[in-house]
Amino acid sequence: MRKLSLTTTFALVSLAAMAVLGVALVIASQRLLQGQALTQARYTAEAYVRVGVQAVTEPEMFAPGRLPAPVVAELDGILRSDQGSALRTVRLWSDDGSVIYDSACPECLAGDNPGVSGIPDLRFEEVMRAGGSDSVAALVDEVAADGRAERRLDVYVPVAFPGESRPSGMAEVVLTYDDTAAAVAQGVRTIALVVLAGLAVLWLLLFRTVRQASRRLRFQAAENARLALLDPLTGLPNRRLLNDRLERAAAVATRTGLHVGLVLLDIDRFKEVNDTLGHPRGDALLKVVAERLRGTARDADTVARLGGDEFAILLPTVGSVEDAEAFTRRVQSEVFDEPFDIDGLVLHVDTSIGLAVLPEHADDVTDLMARADVAMYTAKAAGIGIATYSAAVDGNSESRLTLLGDLRRALDTDDQLVMHYQPKVDLRTGRVVGLEALLRWWHPVQGLVAPNEFIPVAEQTGLMHQLTARVLGLVASQIAVWQREGEVLPVAVNLSARNLLEPNLDEVVAALLDMHQISPHLLEFEITESAIVEDPRRAGEMLRRLSAMGIAVAVDDFGIGNTSMGQLRSMPLNTIKIDASFVTNLGHDEAGGVLVRAIVDLAHEFGLVAVAEGVEDEAAIVRLRDLDCDVAQGFHWSRPVPAAELPAVLERIRTQPTVGGAPVRS
Ligand code: C2E
Ligand code: MG
Ligand code: MG
Repeated sequence: MRKLSLTTTFALVSLAAMAVLGVALVIASQRLLQGQALTQARYTAEAYVRVGVQAVTEPEMFAPGRLPAPVVAELDGILRSDQGSALRTVRLWSDDGSVIYDSACPECLAGDNPGVSGIPDLRFEEVMRAGGSDSVAALVDEVAADGRAERRLDVYVPVAFPGESRPSGMAEVVLTYDDTAAAVAQGVRTIALVVLAGLAVLWLLLFRTVRQASRRLRFQAAENARLALLDPLTGLPNRRLLNDRLERAAAVATRTGLHVGLVLLDIDRFKEVNDTLGHPRGDALLKVVAERLRGTARDADTVARLGGDEFAILLPTVGSVEDAEAFTRRVQSEVFDEPFDIDGLVLHVDTSIGLAVLPEHADDVTDLMARADVAMYTAKAAGIGIATYSAAVDGNSESRLTLLGDLRRALDTDDQLVMHYQPKVDLRTGRVVGLEALLRWWHPVQGLVAPNEFIPVAEQTGLMHQLTARVLGLVASQIAVWQREGEVLPVAVNLSARNLLEPNLDEVVAALLDMHQISPHLLEFEITESAIVEDPRRAGEMLRRLSAMGIAVAVDDFGIGNTSMGQLRSMPLNTIKIDASFVTNLGHDEAGGVLVRAIVDLAHEFGLVAVAEGVEDEAAIVRLRDLDCDVAQGFHWSRPVPAAELPAVLERIRTQPTVGGAPVRS
């Protein structure tokens, strides 16, 4: 059975209560009116006895026997003259309880044995014994001769003459009840009507108030439930609602054999949008993305925001993995191809989309969520935009995912990320002319993690931005320390491709230099070829701004990338760093020398300094000098070391001329 609503329950219960109250009121008032009618009847009867009977009789007449004939005639006369009033019959009793007058049946008293008929012994006793001061009235129902039910009022009145100590006899006055009954009925009707109308109005008012309150409560409850399941910024379902629907879709899919697709999507470099354009613009972007996503999905699909810049689309019924993949491509082109206009600012936004399908990629909803996440991460890490879950990359991805999480936490600590410094040596003079700052991560569990392991991962996420900010901060404060100590060398910092695309990198750097009171000539940036190739226009623009500030720029790992000469020419470069792979074996590899010579010549052609990386032995140094290379660095002189160990390293290089010291030219 359906449960009754609060309002209906209240309406019914209150209605029943009011009905009971109404009936009770009507019955009570009926009783009251009847009581009043009886009192009224008593007054009438008493008045008749005092004024009528006692006026024509004497106390002595109330002895057994019969009233004198003239008195009877007078009494009959009074009765007759009172026709039309309620008075019907009168009987008189003597003090011993025998009837001495009966207006209704004079012949009853005609014999010698005067009236004993119909004497209500009990009443007589009651009235006479009570001292004769009070009359008694009673409603009597009787059946008339014609069979009609009739009601009459019998009033027993003591006949007490003034001066007598006790009543001389009793009168039974019978009054018709019809008029009284009509008056009582009319009164009861009126009262019932008033009570009913009053209660109805009261009930309506109560009902209205309760209904309004109940509606308000229901509305509030519905609103609360809605808010608990929706994302306040975009109005999209939140993670909880998505999970709910996912569970339901999975249950249906297992029954019907259909597939459930889950698409996870996150905006690339959203953090940069937030950081550089401000949170209001970030929010506005999220709203537009939400709108476009909703426009692309079908009604049956659920587009949800999981938090931050992460969205999900649930495809509750999808034909196949291929169908779901086609959908992800459509999302990518329909939602992200067109630039976003945020307050008149045109933004090109990229996304990473991950897809996992039930039951192909997962057995249950929890797995499906995790796998779509792995797929999204793969898309991001590989920079491929869209990825479908693949078990092959999963293990790798998961360990990288944890690494990313750990790195994020490392950025919150002060001691896990430290800089090591490697000296660069002038091949002609043997003197240290600069340092390269290289990042080291002391992982709390894994120990030292090499930058090659975590930087490529960080580069695919917004973390690189924070990582570089940390590196720049550490290096700048270290330079400031050296500056105070009096011996300072230029320090090269490695930048990632992503860093060059940060629109305000130059401002951040300028602020740092200013804060630490450092000359821009003490800072150098190393950029790999790939960073230039990725977006030559924007990279070139940023490099020009940095260069204009007086900061030197080097191309790192040169020789393994595929920068065109034209591109290199347009960049404001100071240095070319020859990749270690051409240098390390130089002492024992004739062919390698040709390449190094070509790069050195090219550098000099452009007026750039040639720096060799990865010098591990004397033989390489000898070849590099032959090839006219300017500067070199490598384990031969020193591994990258913490700042604290650097003075000892520099001292060793200075005092041991054989260790890469000045060339002994013949
Ligand atoms: P890189 O900029 O080319 O740095 C030179 C790498 O060669 C360093 O590896 C250094 O330790 C290593 N190296 C130096 N001398 C020798 C040698 O004689 N033989 C050999 N085999 N290797 C030598 P490391 O420190 O592991 O850094 C690896 C890469 O990670 C760097 O290559 C750079 O691209 C990146 N990296 C390091 N620190 C940072 C950083 O703070 N920011 C960015 N964006 N990238 C960084
Ligand atoms: Mg470098
Ligand atoms: Mg390098």
